[in-house]
Amino acid sequence: MKKLPVAIIGAGPVGLATAAHLLERGLEPLIFEAGPTAGSAIEQWRHIRLFSPWRFNLDAAAVRLLEAAGWETPRLTALPYGGELIDNYLAPLAATPAIASRLQTGAKVLAVTRAGMDKTHTRNRETTPFIVRVEHVDGEVRDHTVAAVVDASGTWSTRNPLGTSGLPAIGEDAAGGRISSPLPDVTGRDRASFAGRRVLVVGAGHSAANTLISLADLAKEEPGTTILWTVRGPSAEKVYGGGDSDGLPARGQLGSRLRRLVEAGTIELHTGFGISALKTLDTHVSVEAADGRTLDTDIIVPCTGFRPDLDILRELRLDLDPAVEAPSQLGPLIDPEFHSCGTVQPHGAKLLAHPEKDFYIVGMKSYGRAPTFLLATGYEQVRSVAAALAGDQTAADTVHLELPETGVCSTDAGTSCDLPAASTPVTVGSVETGCCAAPEPVLIGIPTGLAHGRSGEV
Ligand SMILES: Cc1cc2nc3c(=O)[nH]c(=O)nc-3n(C[C@H](O)[C@H](O)[C@H](O)COP(=O)(O)OP(=O)(O)OC[C@H]3O[C@@H](n4cnc5c(N)ncnc54)[C@H](O)[C@@H]3O)c2cc1C
Repeated sequence: MKKLPVAIIGAGPVGLATAAHLLERGLEPLIFEAGPTAGSAIEQWRHIRLFSPWRFNLDAAAVRLLEAAGWETPRLTALPYGGELIDNYLAPLAATPAIASRLQTGAKVLAVTRAGMDKTHTRNRETTPFIVRVEHVDGEVRDHTVAAVVDASGTWSTRNPLGTSGLPAIGEDAAGGRISSPLPDVTGRDRASFAGRRVLVVGAGHSAANTLISLADLAKEEPGTTILWTVRGPSAEKVYGGGDSDGLPARGQLGSRLRRLVEAGTIELHTGFGISALKTLDTHVSVEAADGRTLDTDIIVPCTGFRPDLDILRELRLDLDPAVEAPSQLGPLIDPEFHSCGTVQPHGAKLLAHPEKDFYIVGMKSYGRAPTFLLATGYEQVRSVAAALAGDQTAADTVHLELPETGVCSTDAGTSCDLPAASTPVTVGSVETGCCAAPEPVLIGIPTGLAHGRSGEV
């Protein structure tokens, strides 16, 4: 077992950080990334600005690898766009010889199990290697034998359905061709799909707000563009926030702007609209509410949040919180009904453990359906997990998050993570930073936005 590598599923920021920590511990990572490059999920939202500054988006072990390769540290107080996180951090990290030689792209993990045994077999389970079944870019499916598995595959590829009750609306799958990605770049690279068309935005989170405002900008230049917006709740007040009196000015600004666009009729808001069915017709899709109302649209933007893909883990013995689908000890700590990302306690291998020894879910996926995940938390998770896999239980159990108590979000973008700016120096790699910059108003937010990723207030 000791000679076998540790499989990492996903080369997002947390997967790559896991590899960096494993390498420091003398373990051999083998990273499988479904997309063509590292950071493939973030690639889909490269036009969105992060709400936490650089210094909280960098992993210390990854920075050590990068610095050895002559990397230039970005300005740690600046807020990068998703694209910058890739271009200035993830891509250079993935290109370091230590990572590049252990990263397989175009490698989609289909399933994880123990060699020669299904979930029901107990004897010798803990000393039996894992099998990771991977579909490679050439279409070939191969089984890889590994000593441990760290699932850092995120949740981006499994959005919540449009339908109410957690199920897809009837006809939702068939309407797939008319449903966009959750955060399309409507004024940029995806413009052609939205210009001059009827667009329906579904959801009451801040990704809905941001997409709606971007669509309004598009409509100014492309007059045929019609913007429809449905929320399940009786009003959109929650999204508008407190306007001028909002404690968080940027959120107030965003909300006020949205409210004005709705009042001016630029955006047609339909409240209490729980989607029950979609009918795909030749020219458009007809969206039906549970109360019988219908809306015709050309394209739908689903701002309904995300959930973890647990199918690939079917043969493993997991212990998940029944509500949030995070590891069960972590669930209550991150429940978005009680916590924002800044109040989540730091946690490591112990809390993330499952009955399946040497298997961990980390990163965005470890939070299940909760939208409060922060990269900084994920980096501490994987430092601890790498220590645990290396047998250094003391280091694994000594969990510390190098974050000030006030949280890490320097902007008040109206996300679930909208705590005040940090004021304590923080060390990232060898770079000690001072107090972060004054909050910059940024009109972006984390797309899940809502407690438990519900698609609208109930
Ligand atoms: C719009 C947006 C803004 C955000 N802003 C911030 C912010 O400002 N600060 C912050 O701390 N957090 C932010 N987050 C939250 C979170 O930090 C990010 O989602 C981050 O990308 C999570 O990193 P990850 O490595 O866990 O997952 P991901 O970045 O999603 O990476 C997972 C990787 O796994 C790959 N993968 C998926 N399935 C498979 C499979 N079966 N086999 C192989 N590979 C697979 C994917 O292609 C992807 O590359 C934001 C999230 C979003 C969506």
